[in-house]
Amino acid sequence: MKPFPGRALVSLFLLVFVSIPAIAAVEKPKVNVILWFDTEDYLLPADDDATKRLAQMLTERGIRATFKLVGEKARVLERRGRRDVIAALKKHDIGYHANFHSVHPTPSEYLADCGLLDGIAEFARREGGGAADVRRILGVKTLACYGQPGSSWASQTIAALKVIGVAPHGVPCYVDEGTHVGLDEQPFWYGDALVVYHMGQNYTRMDLHDPAAVEPAKQKVLAIADRLRGRGGGLITVAAGNRGGVQALC
Ligand SMILES: [Zn+2]
Repeated sequence: MKPFPGRALVSLFLLVFVSIPAIAAVEKPKVNVILWFDTEDYLLPADDDATKRLAQMLTERGIRATFKLVGEKARVLERRGRRDVIAALKKHDIGYHANFHSVHPTPSEYLADCGLLDGIAEFARREGGGAADVRRILGVKTLACYGQPGSSWASQTIAALKVIGVAPHGVPCYVDEGTHVGLDEQPFWYGDALVVYHMGQNYTRMDLHDPAAVEPAKQKVLAIADRLRGRGGGLITVAAGNRGGVQALC
């Protein structure tokens, strides 16, 4: 594998994750971090290798991330016989990112004219099979969370999470970023689910393909952590797309 510009990025991850227990040891306010990757490129086989290297790189450093898989991505990994990629992913939390991602109609399109109950049923009908495939192929009983494809948010999806098997420890969980609903830029309850959304200042996105973006991102995470400690602790979400991962890791 060629050296990749993620080395400094890894340092950032280590800094964030290692510093948190140290903070706890002196009883300062606790800052938690969710590091999540939308794993959605089911067209390019190169993304399979990038996903594997990313998952392994994090595992080697003791970092457990959340990979939100598109149903079709899980199925192509199975069809291509990429048990190695699946095994690497299984070291992390496995979430769900819709059955076919951006193929129309997307959730907000097919739910636009639905009410609550028929919308829940329609979401389960269209997305439930993909969620079951991800659970079966990745060998998990439940999925850690769901996040919408693009900005295709709809309230019915949150209420439907338990129906499609997105309920770790029995609690439905939604993790993504957008501005549709939110509360104080921290997790909140909505539709009987724990929702991590509209994190605003407490959310940042990594540009994995750009080495020059690492240091500013590192400083941003540290600044968020400082601010959250000042208000008694909280949660930071850090996101990165696997398409950026392909560019950085290939
Ligand atoms: Zn996506």
